[in-house]
Amino acid sequence: MNDTFVDLRLVRAGCSRLAWAEGQTFRIPRALLESTRLAQFVSRDGAVSLPDQCDAATPADAHALREFAAFTESPPTTARLPVSYRRVPGTLRAAAASLIGRLRRRQADRWARFPRWPLDLSADFLSDVAKERCAVPPPTPVVLTHDIDSAEGLTNLTRNFLDREEAAGARSVNYVVPRGWTLDAAALREIRARGHEIGVHGFDHSNRTPFVDPAARRERLEAGRRFADEHGATGYRAPSLLRTRALVRDVGERFAYDSSIPTSGGLFPVPNNGCASARPFVVEGALELPLSMPRDGSLRFLGYSAAEILQLWIDCAAAIARSGGVIVLLTHCERRFSGTSAMLDAYSRLLEHFGSAGGYRFSQPADVLVRPAA
Ligand SMILES: [Zn+2]
Repeated sequence: MNDTFVDLRLVRAGCSRLAWAEGQTFRIPRALLESTRLAQFVSRDGAVSLPDQCDAATPADAHALREFAAFTESPPTTARLPVSYRRVPGTLRAAAASLIGRLRRRQADRWARFPRWPLDLSADFLSDVAKERCAVPPPTPVVLTHDIDSAEGLTNLTRNFLDREEAAGARSVNYVVPRGWTLDAAALREIRARGHEIGVHGFDHSNRTPFVDPAARRERLEAGRRFADEHGATGYRAPSLLRTRALVRDVGERFAYDSSIPTSGGLFPVPNNGCASARPFVVEGALELPLSMPRDGSLRFLGYSAAEILQLWIDCAAAIARSGGVIVLLTHCERRFSGTSAMLDAYSRLLEHFGSAGGYRFSQPADVLVRPAA
């Protein structure tokens, strides 16, 4: 831990809004903390004791923390290659990421300084200190999403995932790449006919849209918008979660919501990325539904087993529920992600858990997204 961040532990909440945060730790950039009134309630060892009904931060402080690491402004290697990185077979890409992940699994203090891995709710803590009142009331919404990155993913979705979701009383949102490959129109119709939703997953998944010039970026998003109109889609998810401020601004003008910013991005697509919030918020004029749960791809690349992933998902969901957040889960249907029998079994058990544990409600984005009054 370097000196850039301060770890805080809330020992006294002072109001019921912050009761969920008592006993938990949060991380805040030192410069941001020192600009708030909160700093005066922090002891030398990081303990925070708030007086009754205290008002020690402003909504602007919470915004600043959400946006501190929310964007990936520099293109990663995959976006700078002369040809699309997708010409390298997915299994090879997964093997390379897996090797990097396994080597780095125990170095989270480097790639998850902020937000911390696998879950960091520091911005929601600061939001409640600032009395922003944007906690989501119980039962906690559970939004199931899939990024459909290939023809295999679409086939596996209709064959293996939709049944499991329907058996649990859930419906998923499926972000489809409009121009990546020839789409199976019958499968897209089937998804909607069964009550699930389609979303837009970029343009061709070459990881370039956020980094091309503004005219080309808007042209790509317009193609996504036309695809959305054809398939009743309302939301956007950026491929590889690569997102710039300019991209999110343009998405906000064309889609009801964006769901490209993870709560805790971890190692991918770039280290130390995410918004440290599990609650919907407005950013660059777009309504953002943060991807609050650790993603299947990151977990598998880091070497987690299906059983470990299930337990981590259950634990993170409980923490998000306590904090007044929304559970947004991304799983990919390809075999190299969640399409194996072990991962499908973990997914089924997670859905059963949401159904039987109490306090959760399967939801669609429209159920949870309400644009706050300006
Ligand atoms: Zn994708």
